[in-house]
Amino acid sequence: MTETVPAVYERLDERFAAVRGDGRLERLWTGGRWTEGPLYVPAGRYLLFSDIPNDRVLRWDEADGSVSVLESPARYPNGRTIDRQGRVVTCRQGARRVERTEHDGSTTVLADRWRGRRLNSPNDVVVSADGAVWFTDPPYGITTDYEGERADPEIDGCHVYRVDPATGDVTAVATDFERPNGLALSVDGTHLYVADTHRRHLRVFAVDGGRLAGGEVFAELDGGPDGVRVDTAGRVWVAAGEALHVLDPDGTLLGRLHLPEEVSNLAFGGRKRNRLFVTASTSVYSILLTVNGAPLL
Ligand code: MG
Repeated sequence: MTETVPAVYERLDERFAAVRGDGRLERLWTGGRWTEGPLYVPAGRYLLFSDIPNDRVLRWDEADGSVSVLESPARYPNGRTIDRQGRVVTCRQGARRVERTEHDGSTTVLADRWRGRRLNSPNDVVVSADGAVWFTDPPYGITTDYEGERADPEIDGCHVYRVDPATGDVTAVATDFERPNGLALSVDGTHLYVADTHRRHLRVFAVDGGRLAGGEVFAELDGGPDGVRVDTAGRVWVAAGEALHVLDPDGTLLGRLHLPEEVSNLAFGGRKRNRLFVTASTSVYSILLTVNGAPLL
């Protein structure tokens, strides 16, 4: 059911010339309500993604292009990543927790509470080289029943958290966000980018062991930013509105890749990580690029 639509690149800075594609934006699948959480799993050559309001996890197989339902119900999954051991780490908005799928298929809960109180609804997650798990906790899964289970928040605020790889302790590492959402580490792991959807900006922190320092605004966006990823040149890709915004490492908006629908998140994949996957409203899109995503593994 793959359809192709013209890719629309909007160049705002001449440095965007390094970011090109083959002009073909493929719609790999459609029929969701709000797709999110794209993750390419290299060992299996498949893409996992969430269809949050329909409460399911889907899998697109690169070998034959088929899409199957991997989990349903799925406790309203949102963002996911892969750790250095190749295990998938998932935010479950409905279960209000972050969990890891082990190689034998069992589940390990990594975080569900902070200071004894239930998290709001974890949204997106990254794992650093030391095995620490960093995630955001806005309230989208508890404000209504549409993307989770309606409930009163137990925590006063929406924070960014870190799970210590040695002790499993959950620590709030940034507590001055309104709606923390997508996040990504820099290529060398020394900086963490975190989107604040309500404030329409992306902030950058220095990673100092288990803590964050700084946190200045890295870029303002013209829509509420959601998912974030980084390419090997250090460019920061942010989903906002109906476009992916590509930022230079110095924060300059270089250009946009426009999609036919409102975008939520993105993932680099394929063997060379030069195939970009985008979750956008009802669909999942893909395009081959001249740039490569930074490895997660
Ligand atoms: Mg998100």
